[in-house]
Amino acid sequence: MKCKGCGYSLWNVPGRTCPECGRGFVPSEFEFRANAVEFCCPGCMQQYYGSDAQGLLVPRSFECVRCHARCELDSMILRAAPGVPDDAVELHRVAWEDPLIGGVVRRFFATVRDGMTRPSRIGDALRGDVVARKATWYAVSVLSVVAIPSAVGFVLLTLLSPMWGSGSTRSGGSALRMAVWESIGGACAVLASWYILGLVLLAFIAWMTALTLRMCGERVPWKVVWCSFSYALGPIVMVAVPCLGIYCGSIPLSMWWVAAACIILARAASVTAWKVIVSVLAPLVLLGAVVTALFAFVVFPPFSAAMTAAAQVGSANATTFGPPAPGDEAAESDAEIGLDESVPVDAVAPGQVDITDPITKDAP
Ligand SMILES: [Zn+2]
Ligand SMILES: [Zn+2]
Repeated sequence: MKCKGCGYSLWNVPGRTCPECGRGFVPSEFEFRANAVEFCCPGCMQQYYGSDAQGLLVPRSFECVRCHARCELDSMILRAAPGVPDDAVELHRVAWEDPLIGGVVRRFFATVRDGMTRPSRIGDALRGDVVARKATWYAVSVLSVVAIPSAVGFVLLTLLSPMWGSGSTRSGGSALRMAVWESIGGACAVLASWYILGLVLLAFIAWMTALTLRMCGERVPWKVVWCSFSYALGPIVMVAVPCLGIYCGSIPLSMWWVAAACIILARAASVTAWKVIVSVLAPLVLLGAVVTALFAFVVFPPFSAAMTAAAQVGSANATTFGPPAPGDEAAESDAEIGLDESVPVDAVAPGQVDITDPITKDAP
């Protein structure tokens, strides 16, 4: 039991203020492992042991069996039970689940910080208690921090991109309405894909990890794995940092998450490091292989077929779009949309023909 202000040990302190910093405290604001703490009668030092979910006395107020004085939980003198190390009595809490830290924003960023810089602390907290529902809300919050800016960015990008082009071929009103609807639809898709993909992926990896751990002879509840993985998501918040996050940061931040997840899980489940590392990496490698196969055999062939078709249409009808920047997927897909819309002959502006690029790009 440490002072929440300065960290001073509050064992055997009869007063209700910290001797070091003067901060007030009461035993009931702490949580302990059951039977890890002795609660002593202030009159005769008769010991009692807390047995409820917070390791506190039940009932909170009673008559001392030795001196018959009235004992109140909050006025008793506390010390670690014999044989229990001082740092092993606290029921650590994940900041996200700790109402003493403050409001939801403070708790969120405290947990993000812990996930990034001291995951072992979260692991300790999970050793005492795991609440899958709270961890899930934390995961949803992290995904929101990442998804909402990217959805807003998508709306802005789709609304502003026609202005960067060499001029719209449509009349203002309908084009704007189209663009707004397209961008809202796109933003919803971005949001949904972040939430669904994020949670489903996380659940799948957690499930696979629990399975692999079992194959290694460690029976770790799925709930513990899920909470460990969710509370390790702190580094992923950095994806929301404009420009830096999603383009440069995805891979290092994901690796950071993997490292944090391994540390938390090893602590929370008391499993040796190598088993945890193997169990976390195995599903990721499998997932990577599946995604690569999916792209190679399912996504890419229709995409390249569509590009070829677009190029053929482009050569049949002279079109107005500029050459897409090489290697820029967004520009390519925009160009493709522009191409489909500008198929009617009245949309063609003479003298701006540029069809060489798509052909050379798709030439085998
Ligand atoms: Zn203090
Ligand atoms: Zn007593």
